[in-house]
Amino acid sequence: MALLNIRKNGDGILRKKCRTVEEITPRILTLLDDMRETLRDANGVGLAAPQVGVLKRIVLVDNGSEILELINPVIVNTKGEQEEIEACLSCPGQWGIVRRPAEVTVKALDRNGVERTYTDTGLTARCFCHELDHLDGVLYIDKAERMLDPDEIETED
Ligand code: ZN
Repeated sequence: MALLNIRKNGDGILRKKCRTVEEITPRILTLLDDMRETLRDANGVGLAAPQVGVLKRIVLVDNGSEILELINPVIVNTKGEQEEIEACLSCPGQWGIVRRPAEVTVKALDRNGVERTYTDTGLTARCFCHELDHLDGVLYIDKAERMLDPDEIETED
């Protein structure tokens, strides 16, 4: 496995639309392994393939008990609303308030090509939305109700 370089805001690749994964090849499996290692190393809760320079519809989401591997993910249902602080490994040192659904259901293929459905709330629901946005070249800073000032960040948590 290898640690991948996380692209930062300003890198044009983060603004591109990702392509559907047509076939889960050994290269895709290696990418999943490398993304997993990179996510852990960065202490993140989610990572999308374009953040490591790959324009494919793949995201990883750490739901607190395991790292979900989502290939060609689609949001199939949402409920309610929540407004919380969000950050992004591609936008270091920034935090913003983003409105997201309270509950999100995502359908995706796993690494074996099996279609799976995940429903979650709270941070994981937000993470589903945030990571899927990356696949369409959207960053949370585009959607933030407002960005936090540095002195506000110090008083958080
Ligand atoms: Zn992000």
